[in-house]
Amino acid sequence: MGGSGFPEKVLAAVRSVAGEHGAVLHEPTFGGNEERNLHACLRSTFVASGGRYVDEFEAELGAVTGSAHVIAVASGTAALQVALRLVGVAVGDEVLVPALTFVATANAVSFLGAVPHFVDCEATTFGLDPSALREHLEANAEMRGGRCINRSTGRVIRAVIPVHVFGHPAPLEGLLRVADEHGIAVVEDAAESLGSTRKSVHTGTIGEVGALSFNGNKIVTTGGGGAVLTNAPELAARARHLAHTAKVDHPWEYVHDEVGYNYRLPEINAALGCAQLERLPELLERKRSLLARYTHAFEDIDGLELVSEPPGCSSNYWLHTIKIAEPVAVHRDSILELCNASGYHLRPPWRPLHRLEPYGGCPRAGLPIAEHLYRTLINLPSSAHLA
Ligand SMILES: *Cc1c(COP(=O)(O)O)cnc(C)c1O
Repeated sequence: MGGSGFPEKVLAAVRSVAGEHGAVLHEPTFGGNEERNLHACLRSTFVASGGRYVDEFEAELGAVTGSAHVIAVASGTAALQVALRLVGVAVGDEVLVPALTFVATANAVSFLGAVPHFVDCEATTFGLDPSALREHLEANAEMRGGRCINRSTGRVIRAVIPVHVFGHPAPLEGLLRVADEHGIAVVEDAAESLGSTRKSVHTGTIGEVGALSFNGNKIVTTGGGGAVLTNAPELAARARHLAHTAKVDHPWEYVHDEVGYNYRLPEINAALGCAQLERLPELLERKRSLLARYTHAFEDIDGLELVSEPPGCSSNYWLHTIKIAEPVAVHRDSILELCNASGYHLRPPWRPLHRLEPYGGCPRAGLPIAEHLYRTLINLPSSAHLA
């Protein structure tokens, strides 16, 4: 047996919180009206469209987030793609993307024939760093005719996608200022942050457009699904049009006035989502008690700390995270190996995107913090039922 080394201490702490029998990274809990809604949806026969659940789900999301308009779609990735198209991202544009995010953020950019341009994040919030972004743009871009041009590639930098990593709100005020100075649109990737607020404003509603995800591993799930958030009525109408095959309203004829997507959220998924959303306050509370339990379990281990919400923010704590000090970061892989072999799904953050095959050739800033966070963060089993 390994004895009392650093990895063994971490395993013991995780086990004391997550139980003796192992735990996955994140799984949903269905303890409310999920079955009732799914049965009602089946009985209605409106499993795809034309029922009541998509409308209800959108209205409930509007109430939770304060967004004036909500368009339910098939995935978070689809929501991002539509959002980027709404702000004018087109073939050959560049979009600023943090290097530390799930690959879908960059994929949504690529689907539009645009190019991700990777920038660094903050060591504390893990969100895009406004000062690093400003310095990078000042050194590498210039304004021509109101557009921000990347001097080395000649391409237009059209948008920036701040990501609320693991549910922690990114520093939006600073990012909005830098984006505004450079004529760059802000699309928030709030896929992980349903229930998280910054200065009491819900994430995903601070920039021009936001994207939510209801994938199976997110805090609230529809099986698969997403939503576009915006306060601008004309963007909302266009998002709905694009996500619904760009079909022009007509009693019987099929007329499509541009190339749209089949990105509608099916009723059956929305039925599940309505029941899940009813339980959001309880899920948020459970995530917080789980944080308290982990904090207690880890308090006697030197060289690591539990990550907590940024000041002035309320985080949904989607994924609980420990940050290990650089000197003990050499143990990262041993911690991950030992815990995973013992049935506890601890995970490193995503490999920074510029180090993935499809994105190796993209333009990028210096990314020292993304690299540092990749070496020193570990996500813990975070399901709400563990609380
Ligand atoms: C989950 C996730 C997405 C994509 O959402 P899907 O619903 O899985 O398509 C995008 N960005 C981030 C940061 C995510 O965590």
